[in-house]
Amino acid sequence: MKSGCNLVLINSENKKLFHKIIFHIFATLSHLFMTPFHFLAENNLSKTTGRVNILNILLNSISALSEREIQEKLEGICDRATIYRTLKLFVRSGIIHPIATEGMVTRYILKKEPEEHVHFKCVDCGSIVCLPEVQIREYPLPSGFSKKEASLLITGICKGCSI
Ligand SMILES: [Zn+2]
Ligand SMILES: [Zn+2]
Repeated sequence: MKSGCNLVLINSENKKLFHKIIFHIFATLSHLFMTPFHFLAENNLSKTTGRVNILNILLNSISALSEREIQEKLEGICDRATIYRTLKLFVRSGIIHPIATEGMVTRYILKKEPEEHVHFKCVDCGSIVCLPEVQIREYPLPSGFSKKEASLLITGICKGCSI
């Protein structure tokens, strides 16, 4: 009886892991048909090795990445100044958008939605994603205050981890 219970537990854990892997594979596949050249051409930017490398990293990441995480992935390939300049250029061009996360760390993700939307951080897998279907609503501000922009980061368990 006891071993039967244990077996059920192991199976459900394996099933959860399997679903998690499948979910992440599909999320990555959805970006596969986009290339760095598509983003550069669309924004009239010339092809440079640095720009292509950084776009490749962002295209292959489901989660938003910090400048430091991008630097680590491009260690010995791209210098820090190039990465800094390129991220600023991509934000100005609207290719990526910054997400303010905990500890004032800014992470970057490919821009898909022009509207202000909610971001979500999974406390299980650590990924930070856009929720374009959840728009940030207007909050009434006290008189004398005017809004420039709003950001909202919700933490919890993502779809892939809650299966
Ligand atoms: Zn997760
Ligand atoms: Zn976003």
